[in-house]
Amino acid sequence: MQVAKTVAELTAFRQEVERTGADLGLVMTMGALHAGHRSLIARARRENPFLVVSLFVNPRQFGPGEDYDRYPRTLAADLDLCRIEGVDCAFVPSVDEMYPPGFATAVLPPSTLTETLCGRTRSGHFTGVATVVTRVINLVRPARAYFGQKDAQQVAVIRRVASDLALPGRIVVPPTVRDADGLALSSRNVYLSADERRAALAIPRALGRADALYREGVVDAAALVGAATETLASEAELAVEYVALVDPDTLVPLEKVERAGLLAIAARAGATRLIDNTLLDPVQLGRTSAHPPIIAIDGPAGAGKSTLARRLARALGFLYIDTGAMYRAVTWKALQEGIPPDAGERLADLTRRLAIRLAPGYREAYPTRVWVDGEEVTRAVREEPVTRQVSAVSAHPGVREELVRQQRALGRQGGVILDGRDIGTHVFPDAELKIYLTASVAVRARRRAEDLVAKGLAVPPIETLEAHIRERDHLDSTRSAAPLRKAADAVEVATDDRSIDESAAYLLELYRQRLGVG
Ligand code: AMP
Repeated sequence: MQVAKTVAELTAFRQEVERTGADLGLVMTMGALHAGHRSLIARARRENPFLVVSLFVNPRQFGPGEDYDRYPRTLAADLDLCRIEGVDCAFVPSVDEMYPPGFATAVLPPSTLTETLCGRTRSGHFTGVATVVTRVINLVRPARAYFGQKDAQQVAVIRRVASDLALPGRIVVPPTVRDADGLALSSRNVYLSADERRAALAIPRALGRADALYREGVVDAAALVGAATETLASEAELAVEYVALVDPDTLVPLEKVERAGLLAIAARAGATRLIDNTLLDPVQLGRTSAHPPIIAIDGPAGAGKSTLARRLARALGFLYIDTGAMYRAVTWKALQEGIPPDAGERLADLTRRLAIRLAPGYREAYPTRVWVDGEEVTRAVREEPVTRQVSAVSAHPGVREELVRQQRALGRQGGVILDGRDIGTHVFPDAELKIYLTASVAVRARRRAEDLVAKGLAVPPIETLEAHIRERDHLDSTRSAAPLRKAADAVEVATDDRSIDESAAYLLELYRQRLGVG
């Protein structure tokens, strides 16, 4: 991971990425990273071949008397976390670097967005946010910038600024991450005493109550805000600043929820100011039962699964989860640590300890970028020693169990494509579309040879490649844990006589027919 302390270093990094033509993602933070930031970073990591995370406590968004001086600063731990998550570049400018002498411009969002809700007590805060976000987005020029729903007013401001000033890229807003007790994660939670934290839990309770009422059909602001206010009032130690139901984009107060509503709360527990919110959204309501589809592609090694899965993912705007790369990552680490491929217990243990991170690749030969414990192993996992052992390693139930758990977590929200040996039979038996891809040994050996040539690697005799493939098929289909087989409801597609383009078009058509779209 590169640590850029200056604008010049950041710019050099961005230019390097631009030369690859690949997308760059951006997550802006003030550091003191917690699981909320981590989920933003993980999401951005999965969706972009390259990723910048900025860590900067922005003085311009703190008012006089606010906590700028005592805001938690944990840079060393933050950089460790970024490394583990596979961040490419951490931008950690000084105040002078961000605002060099003579810096004199401020970005002033419309007062309708900045003088309501938190803006009433935090004068100048959103101008400070808008200024720093505009500057950093213009420096990074990301394809996607990620901001948490936790700061809903900030999101409304940034969306508006990005639109009005034609900032590059899309603004992506992942959901709020909460602690087990319901409290939204925040860097400021470290200020809370045990008693204050207990009192603060009335905030998620109040939001939960309003949410439940909305789901029962209550749409009147008076009833929703009233219920939330009543719950908050049960905690005497909580000083409520506001409870409001507003339009999530314009922040104009609503009398009732028609299109969508944002129920937002700010309150103080002791000296600590906390904010939280819930989106009351008819579209979200409809989505609680049916998530966007999951597509499972299984079949023997070399049938074209990953190439086609990627094509389909791109065409449908789905996320591609390269499960094979996860097994390769475990195999690579086992080779590093000298763990033999038959040491099941040790391999399972290793798998549980590993932090595997994936990102879309940016070159044909390395279509997925892979990190293990923060070390990039994109190339290493594609090399022959790993390829030879991956089947044996992935046959161990303990290894599979852990990776299946991780795959289910990645795919939970739907809109994903996975390929492997047991996706439709075991990982996602309820996948909406299952495809079983096949090709003859001869064709698969030829494709493997072409693949090696593309990577500039030595090509063994075709007989040797065929023997490897037969051996791998045998191991894959006879292993006791989740052997390779076609799910009863999978559609079998042979790719021998189809080009990649023809197969891709065929699968897309299959998707449209089966799921009745397009
Ligand atoms: P901050 O460091 O507080 O400026 O936050 C950096 C980014 O992380 C912002 O986009 C926040 O909205 C987001 N964020 C903070 N807390 C959470 C959380 N609990 N869940 C999801 N995103 C969060």
